[in-house]
Amino acid sequence: MPELPEVESLAAFLRAHATGHTVARADAASFSVLKTFDPPLTSLAGQAISGVGRHGKFLDISTDQGLHLIIHLARAGWLRWREDLPSTPPKPGKSPLAFRLALDDGSGFDLTEQGTHKRLAVYLVGDPADVPGVATLGPDPLAADFTADTLASLLSGRKMQIKGVLRDQRIIAGIGNAYSDEVLHAAKMSPFKIAASLTTDEVAVLFDAIKATLTEAVERSEGLAAADLKGEKKSGLRVHGRAGQACPVCGDTIREVSFADSALQYCPTCQTNGRPLADRRLSRLLK
Ligand SMILES: [Zn+2]
Repeated sequence: MPELPEVESLAAFLRAHATGHTVARADAASFSVLKTFDPPLTSLAGQAISGVGRHGKFLDISTDQGLHLIIHLARAGWLRWREDLPSTPPKPGKSPLAFRLALDDGSGFDLTEQGTHKRLAVYLVGDPADVPGVATLGPDPLAADFTADTLASLLSGRKMQIKGVLRDQRIIAGIGNAYSDEVLHAAKMSPFKIAASLTTDEVAVLFDAIKATLTEAVERSEGLAAADLKGEKKSGLRVHGRAGQACPVCGDTIREVSFADSALQYCPTCQTNGRPLADRRLSRLLK
């Protein structure tokens, strides 16, 4: 799933390639992808793209007439930029194509989504806060005013495991399953540590890990074409998705805890004093 660094890079890519161009047409290729009906998608035609931003994992393409096309790529969605977009509108069907935006010079992008769970979402709104997932977002961890004190106040009194806190978009915007694994590995912290139990020093370490991990990931993907970002994310990850491989810091074997619909990866030596965490799925079976 694209998280803050990938969405930030996609926003930068679109800013460089789409800003100043006029929308020729926008088409939804599936009935479920467009979550709003007023204003209609046809109203985008003829409007110039004036900026591209990001709210957490949401892309925000704004127009000179005050509309915002908000995109959430969800777990299996992606944006593919094309210099020569087919001139025919997409046909609804079984292809992974979910949405197409065509610009006046023949370029534009396709939104695609693999798999059977269709979660990719597009919204056309006058105000980004009209999108429920945007309105409830917590603070952005790369914002200049996100300080160690901000993090301390977000964690204070929260009887949740730190892994869940980092992933919760209503608490901190933009970090998902992959970068929460990476942040906790960088902070040498157990994913199951209770947020409220962190000392001031631990909050400071976690804060530095959040800023460094996300900043480095954004810098790695800067300037890459939209098509290359997915591969860059995978190659830059140290523990996430690498169960069974050697930890790049200490050489221990990276382990995994599986849940119903996801899994986390961590290094026992770096993060849990060498002790493997209980695998929830397995321990439930053994009970
Ligand atoms: Zn390690």
